[in-house]
Amino acid sequence: MSSNSNSSERYSRQILFARIGKEGQQRLTNSRAVIIGCGALGSAQAEALARAGVGTLRIVDRDFVEFSNLQRQTMFSESDAAERLPKAIACANHIGEINSEIKVESEIADANHSNIEALIAEADVVLDGTDNFATRYLINDACIKHDVNWIYGAAVGSYGVTMTIRPQETPCLRCIFPEAPPAASAPTCDTAGVIMPIISVVAAVQVSEALKLLTGDLESLHKSLMQFDVWRNEWRKIGLGLKQTDCPTCGLGEYETLNADSREFAAVMCGRHAVQISPSASASIDLKALGSKLASAGEVKANDYLLRFRTGEYELTVFQDARSIIRGTDDIATARSLYSKYIGN
Ligand SMILES: [Zn+2]
Repeated sequence: MSSNSNSSERYSRQILFARIGKEGQQRLTNSRAVIIGCGALGSAQAEALARAGVGTLRIVDRDFVEFSNLQRQTMFSESDAAERLPKAIACANHIGEINSEIKVESEIADANHSNIEALIAEADVVLDGTDNFATRYLINDACIKHDVNWIYGAAVGSYGVTMTIRPQETPCLRCIFPEAPPAASAPTCDTAGVIMPIISVVAAVQVSEALKLLTGDLESLHKSLMQFDVWRNEWRKIGLGLKQTDCPTCGLGEYETLNADSREFAAVMCGRHAVQISPSASASIDLKALGSKLASAGEVKANDYLLRFRTGEYELTVFQDARSIIRGTDDIATARSLYSKYIGN
């Protein structure tokens, strides 16, 4: 562990910035930020918050690193992709080299109705690093219910958008978008493509807002829906107006996404030609035993966190929580039957 003098040297330029100062730095040290989704936006957020010295970072991600991520997901290296490390683990490894004075909690998990409230528990701020509106509504419900500030962000092509949500003080995501905007449901980030500069812009604004919230400088928040297009050279700030009194989430407190039924559920993954199957109850799988069982049926590779099994045109990646990402199909029924055939019910 480094001494305090090293610490103050590390943060000296940030402490010289008067709006943070010594007191703000201490507040950052005592803070906990939760990043949901460690892809492009989440990578940039995690790196910036780690360098800024936010004391505890919880990184939640369901996926593993692939070569197609490296163009924009700045936390990851070629060796992470070659080893197929879970993003939450690869991110924690790199943060350990950037700032060993902070604490990182890796959660290899799909944020859903069953775990979101636990994942954001005791967070001082939650940052959106996801790529879909379903998960954003889930974060919105959980954060409004538990009175946690959160920062929405999205990027596609050269366009990006961000907004800071403070329960009871500002409109929530559902006040602004009662339903997922069509542009966000299709095309998705994967099918439409995305360039890294817009990721940097959106993440930079999200992180600035997080630092303002954590240091208590609320008057400096941008208080808008901010939109950018780095290719068309456009920048826009739209006022948020008032909270909607009939908003199901922040007006009526209905939190519908938290009350989903608890059956096993399957989801087609954002432009990946893959389906994710999650078990109905929390489970833990013996990957070694599963690997020996599957070895006769196809090619098996494993690391400490996941197992990959290839059979014909399909590839199943199985995590310790019995969740599986099944590549080679967009069809939920096909994925379900592969899951029950090779992994179990
Ligand atoms: Zn609302």
